[in-house]
Amino acid sequence: MANFETPELTEIPVVPQLEPDVMSRCVSHVAKPEIQAPLGYPGELVDNWEQVAIDKLGELNAKYRSLQVFLDACVKCGACTDKCHYYLGTADPKNMPVARQDLLRSVYRRYYTLAGKWFPKLVGARDMSKAVLDEWYNYFHQCSECRRCSVFCPYGIDTAEIAMAAREIMNSVGMGQKYSNEVIGKALKFGNNLGLPGPALADTLESLEEDVEEDTGVKVRYPLDEKGAEVLVVAPSADFFAEPHVESLIGYGKVFHQAGISWTLSSYASEGGNFALFTGSYNNMRQLALRVRKAALDLGVKRIVFGECGHAWRVAYSFLNTLAGPFDFLDPRYPVPQHICEVTYDLMKRGVLKFDKSQNDHMVLTFHDSCNVARASGMGDMPGGQFTIPREIVKATCNHFVEMSPDTLYDATFCCGAGGGTLTDELIELRVKGAMPRMQAVKEVVDTAAVTHMANICAICKSQFTKVFPYYDFSADMIVGVHQLVSSAIILDR
Ligand code: SF4
Ligand code: SF4
Repeated sequence: MANFETPELTEIPVVPQLEPDVMSRCVSHVAKPEIQAPLGYPGELVDNWEQVAIDKLGELNAKYRSLQVFLDACVKCGACTDKCHYYLGTADPKNMPVARQDLLRSVYRRYYTLAGKWFPKLVGARDMSKAVLDEWYNYFHQCSECRRCSVFCPYGIDTAEIAMAAREIMNSVGMGQKYSNEVIGKALKFGNNLGLPGPALADTLESLEEDVEEDTGVKVRYPLDEKGAEVLVVAPSADFFAEPHVESLIGYGKVFHQAGISWTLSSYASEGGNFALFTGSYNNMRQLALRVRKAALDLGVKRIVFGECGHAWRVAYSFLNTLAGPFDFLDPRYPVPQHICEVTYDLMKRGVLKFDKSQNDHMVLTFHDSCNVARASGMGDMPGGQFTIPREIVKATCNHFVEMSPDTLYDATFCCGAGGGTLTDELIELRVKGAMPRMQAVKEVVDTAAVTHMANICAICKSQFTKVFPYYDFSADMIVGVHQLVSSAIILDR
């Protein structure tokens, strides 16, 4: 265990006493030139970088109207100050959303407002400097871009968008984050975040088929690059090898098998995640989205379905059609794209899928809303479907379900503590402390309702929680995917 103290879980959430700059020690690694180059970014700080950064800020303000509104509209009402899990867990005031925004806003004011040009001190305007850049690097990589603060801001100011802009500016001057940029580079080169080549993927899926047949006696298929399949599934690559992620992939296969729907994965687009969302790079985000389009065209599928990954679903639901559309070659009877939960829910409602709930009787379940699904997407054709549909699936596949405190659910859900490019080892202190508000809600239902497991539909949440639960004396095995529950309970009779 690392060299910091895990926050104490209190009965009632407590707003911490300020500890200025306490998290300035928690810095993610800067990307080396060889990681920057393939993404089109300079490998180290460019000459005249201050001016380049200021110009880039002006360019982004002109391009994204929302950014300028967010930088202008804050009235310092304070409603967001205690809403960020990173502030609540670390006590560092720079992790208050408004303070995080001000890191960029102060520079914006200095160069792009009249008052900031003439009376900088009066309006909190700052010159661009290396100290400012370092502070940006530090604290804009301590934002998981979860958007919880925006729900409570009377003006809807979205700190995530400000963090994305700051990261894009930093990349443009040669100061990118190693973790996110390395992942984007691998996805652009290999088609997935792990750099898994096609043959390795094929081997993995083959052994999965053998395991499932041994376990169930049914030949459930996990096809790769199968031309003419009806559905292309784009899953987070963690589903191919990580626990508990792979259990959900097994579940997707069982759903398609039982429904008699042909499906395939693609070795060219073997990744649902799109980390370019985190760095604010439209161009890289588009390149990754175009891989999904090309895979769908090459394989001749009729539908595209995304697996259990929060930010993948945000990019797919909100942006896929504009990034890589039109998808007029797909079957118009289905939405483009679909979430695997929408597919399962629909089949379940039509009686195509049947479950034996008793298979999950050893669990008392609760459900964690993942932030990108909750606050940046929808599901089905009903308002709030992103909340209802996964819960309906959980309830259909188990007998014991308990909700956590409503203050921590739905659009007020707390981030797992590792979204937005923070799921990296050197930020473990941030991750453990940032998980504290969710841990508090988990502890409450463990203590009062004997909850044993927590389901979710996000690859990052699964990786983060299995890592940080032990810091709070919970078992990593408590984390399950929704299609893991489906996998255990589904009745296979075809
Ligand atoms: S977007 Fe999330 S992580 Fe970032 S400041 Fe807001 S609440 Fe905190
Ligand atoms: S809630 Fe909105 S307006 Fe109020 S301080 Fe926070 S960002 Fe500014």
